[in-house]
Amino acid sequence: MRKLGLLRDIDLALHLPLRYVDETRLTPIASLRDGDSAQVQGRVTECRVEARTRRQLLVRLADDSGELLLRLFNFYPSNQKTLAVGNLVRVRGEVRVGFVGREMVHPEFRGVSADTPLPAALTPVYPSSAQLPQAYLRKAVASALARAPLSELLPPELVPAGLPPLAVAVHRLHHPSPDAPEDALQDHGHPAWQRLKFEELLAQQLAQAQAQAVRARLAAPTLVADGLATQLLAALPFALTHAQQRVVAEIRADLARAQPMHRLLQGDVGSGKTVVAALAAAVAMGAGWQCALMAPTEILAEQHFRKLVVWLQPLGVTVAWLTGSRKGKGRSAMLAQVASGEALLVVGTHAVIQRDVVFAKLGLAVVDEQHRFGVAQRLALKDKLHEQALEPHLLMMSATPIPRTLAMSYFADLDVSTIDELPPGRTSIVTKIFADSKREAVVGRIRDELTNPAQPGRQAYWVCPLVEESEHLDLQNATATHAELSAALPGVMVGLLHGRMTGAEKAAVMQLFTNGEMKLLVATTVIEVGVDVPNASLMVIEHAERFGLAQLHQLRGRVGRGAVASVCVLLFTGPLSPTGKARLKAMAETNDGFEIARRDLDIRGPGEFMGARQSGDALLRFADLGQDSALLLHARAVAPRLLAQHPRVAQLHVERWLGGKADFLKA
Ligand code: ADP
Ligand code: MG
Repeated sequence: MRKLGLLRDIDLALHLPLRYVDETRLTPIASLRDGDSAQVQGRVTECRVEARTRRQLLVRLADDSGELLLRLFNFYPSNQKTLAVGNLVRVRGEVRVGFVGREMVHPEFRGVSADTPLPAALTPVYPSSAQLPQAYLRKAVASALARAPLSELLPPELVPAGLPPLAVAVHRLHHPSPDAPEDALQDHGHPAWQRLKFEELLAQQLAQAQAQAVRARLAAPTLVADGLATQLLAALPFALTHAQQRVVAEIRADLARAQPMHRLLQGDVGSGKTVVAALAAAVAMGAGWQCALMAPTEILAEQHFRKLVVWLQPLGVTVAWLTGSRKGKGRSAMLAQVASGEALLVVGTHAVIQRDVVFAKLGLAVVDEQHRFGVAQRLALKDKLHEQALEPHLLMMSATPIPRTLAMSYFADLDVSTIDELPPGRTSIVTKIFADSKREAVVGRIRDELTNPAQPGRQAYWVCPLVEESEHLDLQNATATHAELSAALPGVMVGLLHGRMTGAEKAAVMQLFTNGEMKLLVATTVIEVGVDVPNASLMVIEHAERFGLAQLHQLRGRVGRGAVASVCVLLFTGPLSPTGKARLKAMAETNDGFEIARRDLDIRGPGEFMGARQSGDALLRFADLGQDSALLLHARAVAPRLLAQHPRVAQLHVERWLGGKADFLKA
């Protein structure tokens, strides 16, 4: 039970059934039809072990109307005792009608006496594990339910009309009456379910509102400075798009305030978020404060580092580089530069920023691809930032556009800026879908593309599913693919990049690919975020059917960064399900990340869309943001009133529902 998080009475009371079985009725044996799932009661007329084909226990059961055969392949002496001739038993299972007559294979059964009552309510089936039998869990839940504190906390006028009190709702869901509408119980449309979802959504909104109130009281440095940002703008080899100008203005307005910025910058892959971050950093540094930029992987951090050094070092900014693989003297020297304030900009992975790094004067923290940071890491980052007297400003960047209802729910405490325009001169990416049987033709196409003297400098990616998953025999292993492609492309340098390589190994490969020596890079999804090599104009994604749409879009965004027309080939291994087909088709039909996110949401639902990490480790157990937006809106409207008029109730409600998890929402 501890493994399932079932510790307190309230945990058990809120451990709600997956489904129900109807044990309130007995069916006469004679009226059982093939395929029925039914409960019968009868006396045992025969019980014997048969060992001819496969050892099994055969039991014949009779009621007033007819006979039924029970077949058990795994059984214990205790079972034989229960099923001894002459005993009365109650049996539930699925009926098969074959040439031996009616039978049930592996039914549930128990001994009863003639006056054992039938239950009045449906029997709950709980989420459980193999080690925890339903019968045990049912008893534990039933006794916890009697003790659990389910008093009505919320003033009735704040609860949506027509929903039952909490205690009534919980009891009803554990033990619904047999005439309760089964569909509504299953699809969670039942008023009792609605009540629980509302409670949960309200708790989430309250916790966010509290976090927001805490933040409003924090003080941050006001960062107003033009010099460095203007110099950087003038030095850039391109002009900002209108969308970039707009979001830069939004960020500058935040930085100029004495409260910490808490802003999410979202923009499609390739929309140019890095330069926006660099300009924000330039404002902070121009005002005399340090800036930290964190990326989820070393490859990505290094790309940022290179770019920022090129942009900022000529303007006199010292940029420090910190990652987990940087050790020894070089590292101590860096740390000293950061502590003294000599290094104005610090770029690295989160692992390093969290540990022994002390900033002289941190004014702005930028987190790239924030959705790749786990909740725990985001919390650690916040703690790190809290070490200072003044709270630094926080800018998060993401290429995974978050639909509005999700943003409202998960990021009520976050302002959002959106870059909705790509830099000019981008050629759109043509996406083609092929069955894996066309693999050879695809390799031929790569050969033509990479060895054509008329178009020197072309490069390509070949993406394989994760090596970590290679236990599954049917997955193409990146190493094998690398060998295959090296053999098929003589004279072409083919590299390999995967998550099991060390940071230094990865860096060496990326170096060769970035400087153009390496023509083809076979990679797992380690290249998913942020890698920027403009000459790469062709990408093949193997087993495309195994990736999420958002992930495919991220991957595809690695090409189409230069002036050359780009192609992305999605290889699939059939047969594809209808949704599988629809998903790949969506990829071929649009290059718009927001449109893809919308379709992904339609196909998969928000839980998966966000991924367990981003959804705050499944903070929402009952509510479904796709379906329950009406309840969410109600919770949003009610939360501020409850906080203002009944602060103590609000506190108790958050504790009841979130307990120790309330912190997650602040991350
Ligand atoms: P992302 O938003 O995916 O992080 P990047 O910041 O990596 O995108 O930008 C993608 C590429 O576009 C980079 O090579 C960058 O230098 C370039 N870029 C950014 N803004 C512009 C612009 N306004 N005009 C032309 N190129 C730009
Ligand atoms: Mg980026």
